[in-house]
Amino acid sequence: MNFAPHIPIPENEPQIAKIPEVPMVGLDTLWLQIGGTVCNLTCTHCFISCTPQNHNHPLMKLAQVQKHLEESKHLGIQDYYITGGEVFLNPELFEIYEAILQYGPCTTLTNGMLISREKAQRLAELQARAKNKLHFRVSLDSLDPEENDAIRGRNAFKLALRGIRYLAEAGFSAHLTMVRSWDDEDDPTMETKALAFMREQGVPHPQVKFLPGFMMGELAVTEREYHPNERVTEKCFENFAITNLQCSSSRMVTAKGVYVCPILIEEDQARMGDTVEETLRPFPLYHSACYTCRVSGMSCKS
Ligand code: SF4
Ligand code: SF4
Repeated sequence: MNFAPHIPIPENEPQIAKIPEVPMVGLDTLWLQIGGTVCNLTCTHCFISCTPQNHNHPLMKLAQVQKHLEESKHLGIQDYYITGGEVFLNPELFEIYEAILQYGPCTTLTNGMLISREKAQRLAELQARAKNKLHFRVSLDSLDPEENDAIRGRNAFKLALRGIRYLAEAGFSAHLTMVRSWDDEDDPTMETKALAFMREQGVPHPQVKFLPGFMMGELAVTEREYHPNERVTEKCFENFAITNLQCSSSRMVTAKGVYVCPILIEEDQARMGDTVEETLRPFPLYHSACYTCRVSGMSCKS
Protein backbone atom coordinates (compact mmCIF):
# COMPACT_ATOMS: atom_id res chain seq x y z
CA MET A 1 0.00 0.00 0.00
CA ASN A 2 1.17 3.49 -0.76
CA PHE A 3 0.27 6.15 1.81
CA ALA A 4 2.08 9.01 0.09
CA PRO A 5 -0.69 11.52 -0.66
CA HIS A 6 -1.40 11.81 -4.39
CA ILE A 7 -0.77 15.53 -4.38
CA PRO A 8 1.31 17.65 -6.71
CA ILE A 9 4.78 18.75 -5.68
CA PRO A 10 4.91 22.48 -6.44
CA GLU A 11 7.48 24.19 -8.63
CA ASN A 12 10.48 25.68 -6.87
CA GLU A 13 9.30 28.85 -5.14
CA PRO A 14 11.85 31.57 -4.39
CA GLN A 15 13.14 31.02 -0.85
CA ILE A 16 11.89 34.47 0.11
CA ALA A 17 8.23 33.41 -0.41
CA LYS A 18 6.40 34.61 2.67
CA ILE A 19 5.08 31.97 5.07
CA PRO A 20 1.34 32.54 5.49
CA GLU A 21 -0.13 32.78 8.97
CA VAL A 22 -3.39 31.12 9.87
CA PRO A 23 -5.54 33.40 12.03
CA MET A 24 -7.41 32.16 15.08
CA VAL A 25 -10.99 32.98 14.18
CA GLY A 26 -12.58 31.51 17.30
CA LEU A 27 -11.87 28.37 19.25
CA ASP A 28 -14.60 25.80 18.72
CA THR A 29 -12.72 22.52 19.24
CA LEU A 30 -10.30 21.46 21.93
CA TRP A 31 -8.17 18.37 21.40
CA LEU A 32 -6.65 16.54 24.35
CA GLN A 33 -3.71 14.17 23.82
CA ILE A 34 -4.67 12.03 26.79
CA GLY A 35 -2.91 8.94 25.38
CA GLY A 36 0.33 10.88 24.84
CA THR A 37 2.57 9.06 22.39
CA VAL A 38 2.01 5.73 24.12
CA CYS A 39 0.25 3.09 22.04
CA ASN A 40 -0.18 -0.67 22.06
CA LEU A 41 0.53 -0.59 18.30
CA THR A 42 3.46 0.56 16.16
CA CYS A 43 1.74 1.34 12.86
CA THR A 44 4.02 1.83 9.87
CA HIS A 45 2.35 5.16 9.02
CA CYS A 46 2.07 6.70 12.50
CA PHE A 47 3.03 10.34 12.03
CA ILE A 48 4.06 10.71 15.68
CA SER A 49 5.78 7.31 15.89
CA CYS A 50 3.77 6.04 18.84
CA THR A 51 4.91 2.82 20.50
CA PRO A 52 4.37 1.13 23.88
CA GLN A 53 7.66 2.71 25.01
CA ASN A 54 7.32 6.20 23.52
CA HIS A 55 6.71 8.52 26.48
CA ASN A 56 7.86 11.66 24.72
CA HIS A 57 4.34 12.90 25.35
CA PRO A 58 3.21 11.15 28.54
CA LEU A 59 -0.36 10.10 29.29
CA MET A 60 -2.34 13.07 30.57
CA LYS A 61 -3.45 13.05 34.19
CA LEU A 62 -7.03 13.82 35.18
CA ALA A 63 -5.84 16.92 37.07
CA GLN A 64 -4.17 18.29 33.92
CA VAL A 65 -7.31 17.70 31.89
CA GLN A 66 -9.46 19.38 34.54
CA LYS A 67 -7.16 22.40 34.66
CA HIS A 68 -7.49 22.98 30.89
CA LEU A 69 -11.25 22.34 30.88
CA GLU A 70 -11.70 24.91 33.60
CA GLU A 71 -9.39 27.54 32.08
CA SER A 72 -11.09 27.26 28.69
CA LYS A 73 -14.72 27.01 29.74
CA HIS A 74 -15.45 30.63 28.71
CA LEU A 75 -13.81 30.33 25.29
CA GLY A 76 -16.83 29.06 23.36
CA ILE A 77 -15.66 25.49 22.77
CA GLN A 78 -18.31 23.37 21.05
CA ASP A 79 -16.69 19.95 21.24
CA TYR A 80 -13.78 17.98 22.63
CA TYR A 81 -11.67 15.30 20.95
CA ILE A 82 -9.41 12.86 22.80
CA THR A 83 -6.60 10.99 21.12
CA GLY A 84 -3.12 9.54 21.58
CA GLY A 85 -1.35 7.21 21.34
CA GLU A 86 -4.13 4.97 22.54
CA VAL A 87 -6.59 6.56 24.94
CA PHE A 88 -7.69 3.23 26.44
CA LEU A 89 -4.19 2.89 27.96
CA ASN A 90 -4.90 5.86 30.21
CA PRO A 91 -5.83 4.47 33.67
CA GLU A 92 -7.93 7.59 34.40
CA LEU A 93 -9.88 7.42 31.14
CA PHE A 94 -13.32 7.02 32.69
CA GLU A 95 -12.75 9.87 35.15
CA ILE A 96 -11.53 11.99 32.23
CA TYR A 97 -14.73 11.19 30.31
CA GLU A 98 -16.81 12.23 33.34
CA ALA A 99 -14.91 15.53 33.49
CA ILE A 100 -15.12 16.34 29.77
CA LEU A 101 -18.80 15.46 29.45
CA GLN A 102 -19.64 18.14 31.98
CA TYR A 103 -18.35 20.69 29.45
CA GLY A 104 -19.43 19.30 26.06
CA PRO A 105 -19.60 16.33 23.68
CA CYS A 106 -16.51 14.16 23.41
CA THR A 107 -15.22 12.26 20.37
CA THR A 108 -12.68 9.49 21.01
CA LEU A 109 -10.07 8.45 18.43
CA THR A 110 -8.98 4.88 19.18
CA ASN A 111 -7.61 1.77 17.54
CA GLY A 112 -10.47 -0.05 19.25
CA MET A 113 -8.41 -3.06 20.30
CA LEU A 114 -8.61 -2.50 24.07
CA ILE A 115 -12.38 -2.02 24.22
CA SER A 116 -13.74 -5.00 26.14
CA ARG A 117 -17.43 -5.77 26.54
CA GLU A 118 -17.19 -4.57 30.16
CA LYS A 119 -15.62 -1.26 29.15
CA ALA A 120 -18.25 -0.71 26.45
CA GLN A 121 -21.01 -1.31 29.01
CA ARG A 122 -19.31 1.09 31.41
CA LEU A 123 -19.29 3.67 28.64
CA ALA A 124 -23.02 3.10 28.10
CA GLU A 125 -23.66 3.69 31.83
CA LEU A 126 -21.58 6.83 31.71
CA GLN A 127 -23.51 8.02 28.65
CA ALA A 128 -26.84 7.41 30.38
CA ARG A 129 -25.81 9.76 33.21
CA ALA A 130 -24.16 12.43 31.06
CA LYS A 131 -25.78 15.52 29.58
CA ASN A 132 -23.42 15.49 26.57
CA LYS A 133 -22.77 12.84 23.91
CA LEU A 134 -19.90 10.40 23.52
CA HIS A 135 -18.73 9.54 19.99
CA PHE A 136 -16.15 7.03 18.81
CA ARG A 137 -13.88 6.74 15.79
CA VAL A 138 -12.05 3.48 15.28
CA SER A 139 -9.10 3.18 12.88
CA LEU A 140 -8.44 0.52 10.29
CA ASP A 141 -6.33 0.88 7.17
CA SER A 142 -7.83 -1.81 4.99
CA LEU A 143 -10.97 -3.93 4.92
CA ASP A 144 -8.67 -6.88 4.25
CA PRO A 145 -7.35 -8.36 7.53
CA GLU A 146 -3.92 -9.26 6.15
CA GLU A 147 -3.37 -5.89 4.49
CA ASN A 148 -4.52 -4.09 7.62
CA ASP A 149 -2.34 -6.11 9.99
CA ALA A 150 0.73 -5.63 7.78
CA ILE A 151 0.42 -1.93 8.65
CA ARG A 152 -1.07 -1.97 12.14
CA GLY A 153 0.24 -5.21 13.64
CA ARG A 154 -0.84 -8.76 14.34
CA ASN A 155 -4.51 -9.20 15.34
CA ALA A 156 -5.18 -5.48 14.92
CA PHE A 157 -8.03 -6.16 12.49
CA LYS A 158 -9.73 -8.82 14.57
CA LEU A 159 -9.52 -6.87 17.83
CA ALA A 160 -10.60 -3.56 16.29
CA LEU A 161 -13.67 -5.29 14.88
CA ARG A 162 -14.40 -6.78 18.27
CA GLY A 163 -14.21 -3.28 19.77
CA ILE A 164 -16.55 -1.91 17.10
CA ARG A 165 -19.07 -4.68 17.82
CA TYR A 166 -18.91 -4.17 21.61
CA LEU A 167 -19.49 -0.46 21.09
CA ALA A 168 -22.47 -1.25 18.84
CA GLU A 169 -23.91 -3.61 21.48
CA ALA A 170 -23.58 -0.79 24.00
CA GLY A 171 -25.48 1.61 21.72
CA PHE A 172 -22.56 3.48 20.10
CA SER A 173 -22.35 3.76 16.33
CA ALA A 174 -18.60 3.93 15.77
CA HIS A 175 -17.25 5.77 12.76
CA LEU A 176 -14.43 4.22 10.78
CA THR A 177 -11.28 6.20 9.98
CA MET A 178 -8.78 5.07 7.36
CA VAL A 179 -5.55 6.62 6.09
CA ARG A 180 -5.93 6.93 2.33
CA SER A 181 -3.70 4.51 0.35
CA TRP A 182 -5.75 4.79 -2.85
CA ASP A 183 -6.33 7.53 -5.42
CA ASP A 184 -8.72 10.30 -4.34
CA GLU A 185 -11.08 9.44 -7.18
CA ASP A 186 -11.63 6.01 -5.63
CA ASP A 187 -13.04 7.58 -2.44
CA PRO A 188 -16.72 7.00 -3.38
CA THR A 189 -16.09 3.27 -4.06
CA MET A 190 -14.12 2.89 -0.85
CA GLU A 191 -16.82 4.71 1.08
CA THR A 192 -19.54 2.39 -0.20
CA LYS A 193 -17.48 -0.67 0.71
CA ALA A 194 -16.52 0.65 4.14
CA LEU A 195 -20.10 1.59 5.05
CA ALA A 196 -21.36 -1.85 4.01
CA PHE A 197 -18.56 -3.44 6.02
CA MET A 198 -19.51 -1.47 9.15
CA ARG A 199 -23.17 -2.40 8.79
CA GLU A 200 -22.10 -6.05 8.64
CA GLN A 201 -20.48 -5.53 12.05
CA GLY A 202 -23.84 -4.43 13.47
CA VAL A 203 -23.13 -0.67 13.43
CA PRO A 204 -26.53 0.96 12.88
CA HIS A 205 -25.43 4.41 11.64
CA PRO A 206 -21.87 4.09 10.36
CA GLN A 207 -19.81 6.88 8.85
CA VAL A 208 -16.35 6.75 7.35
CA LYS A 209 -13.58 9.31 7.28
CA PHE A 210 -10.51 9.14 5.06
CA LEU A 211 -7.35 10.91 6.17
CA PRO A 212 -4.24 11.75 4.16
CA GLY A 213 -0.84 10.32 5.08
CA PHE A 214 1.59 12.81 6.65
CA MET A 215 5.17 12.19 5.54
CA MET A 216 6.61 12.43 9.02
CA GLY A 217 7.28 10.06 11.91
CA GLU A 218 7.08 6.45 10.70
CA LEU A 219 5.75 7.33 7.27
CA ALA A 220 8.89 9.39 6.57
CA VAL A 221 10.82 6.16 7.16
CA THR A 222 8.55 3.66 5.45
CA GLU A 223 7.50 5.81 2.42
CA ARG A 224 9.42 9.07 2.02
CA GLU A 225 10.15 12.39 3.66
CA TYR A 226 8.54 15.61 2.50
CA HIS A 227 10.03 17.14 -0.61
CA PRO A 228 11.57 20.58 0.15
CA ASN A 229 9.03 22.21 -2.19
CA GLU A 230 6.07 20.81 -0.29
CA ARG A 231 5.40 24.03 1.64
CA VAL A 232 2.49 26.41 1.65
CA THR A 233 2.93 29.94 0.36
CA GLU A 234 0.46 32.80 0.21
CA LYS A 235 -0.36 31.74 -3.35
CA CYS A 236 -1.85 28.49 -1.99
CA PHE A 237 -4.64 30.51 -0.41
CA GLU A 238 -5.69 32.58 -3.39
CA ASN A 239 -8.59 30.21 -4.11
CA PHE A 240 -8.91 28.45 -0.76
CA ALA A 241 -9.92 30.14 2.48
CA ILE A 242 -7.14 29.73 5.01
CA THR A 243 -9.82 29.58 7.69
CA ASN A 244 -10.85 26.17 6.31
CA LEU A 245 -7.79 24.80 8.10
CA GLN A 246 -8.63 23.29 11.45
CA CYS A 247 -5.87 25.28 13.17
CA SER A 248 -7.97 28.44 12.70
CA SER A 249 -10.50 27.13 15.21
CA SER A 250 -8.87 24.44 17.37
CA ARG A 251 -5.93 23.76 19.65
CA MET A 252 -4.29 20.63 21.06
CA VAL A 253 -3.66 20.24 24.79
CA THR A 254 -0.95 17.79 25.89
CA ALA A 255 0.80 16.97 29.14
CA LYS A 256 3.66 19.18 27.89
CA GLY A 257 1.68 22.27 26.95
CA VAL A 258 -0.68 23.51 24.26
CA TYR A 259 0.16 22.94 20.58
CA VAL A 260 -1.31 24.37 17.42
CA CYS A 261 -2.85 21.08 16.20
CA PRO A 262 -2.82 17.27 16.63
CA ILE A 263 -0.37 16.81 13.76
CA LEU A 264 2.58 18.87 15.00
CA ILE A 265 2.91 17.78 18.63
CA GLU A 266 6.49 16.60 18.08
CA GLU A 267 7.52 20.07 16.86
CA ASP A 268 8.90 22.51 19.45
CA GLN A 269 7.90 25.39 17.18
CA ALA A 270 4.27 24.25 17.29
CA ARG A 271 4.07 24.49 21.09
CA MET A 272 2.24 27.78 21.54
CA GLY A 273 2.00 28.09 25.32
CA ASP A 274 1.12 26.64 28.70
CA THR A 275 -2.52 27.66 28.67
CA VAL A 276 -5.15 27.49 25.93
CA GLU A 277 -5.91 31.18 26.20
CA GLU A 278 -2.36 32.27 25.41
CA THR A 279 -2.40 30.22 22.19
CA LEU A 280 -5.34 32.10 20.64
CA ARG A 281 -3.17 33.94 18.13
CA PRO A 282 -2.07 33.41 14.50
CA PHE A 283 0.31 30.60 13.65
CA PRO A 284 2.85 30.57 10.76
CA LEU A 285 2.28 27.56 8.49
CA TYR A 286 5.99 26.76 8.21
CA HIS A 287 5.75 22.96 8.24
CA SER A 288 5.42 20.68 5.22
CA ALA A 289 2.49 18.93 6.92
CA CYS A 290 0.57 22.18 6.36
CA TYR A 291 0.94 21.51 2.63
CA THR A 292 -0.82 18.16 3.07
CA CYS A 293 -3.62 19.88 5.02
CA ARG A 294 -3.99 22.53 2.32
CA VAL A 295 -3.94 20.23 -0.70
CA SER A 296 -6.10 17.50 0.80
CA GLY A 297 -8.49 20.00 2.43
CA MET A 298 -7.97 17.85 5.47
CA SER A 299 -9.58 18.38 8.80
CA CYS A 300 -9.32 15.91 11.65
CA LYS A 301 -12.85 16.91 12.55
CA SER A 302 -15.91 15.55 10.83
S1 SF4 B 1 -1.45 5.32 14.10
FE1 SF4 B 1 -2.74 5.32 15.94
S2 SF4 B 1 -2.94 3.16 16.49
FE2 SF4 B 1 -1.21 3.30 15.10
S3 SF4 B 1 0.63 3.54 16.41
FE3 SF4 B 1 -0.09 5.61 15.88
S4 SF4 B 1 -1.45 6.19 17.55
FE4 SF4 B 1 -1.21 3.96 17.66
S1 SF4 C 1 -0.36 20.77 10.08
FE1 SF4 C 1 -2.41 21.33 9.35
S2 SF4 C 1 -3.61 21.73 11.18
FE2 SF4 C 1 -1.43 21.76 11.77
S3 SF4 C 1 -0.75 23.92 11.65
FE3 SF4 C 1 -0.33 22.98 9.66
S4 SF4 C 1 -2.17 23.39 8.43
FE4 SF4 C 1 -2.71 23.72 10.55
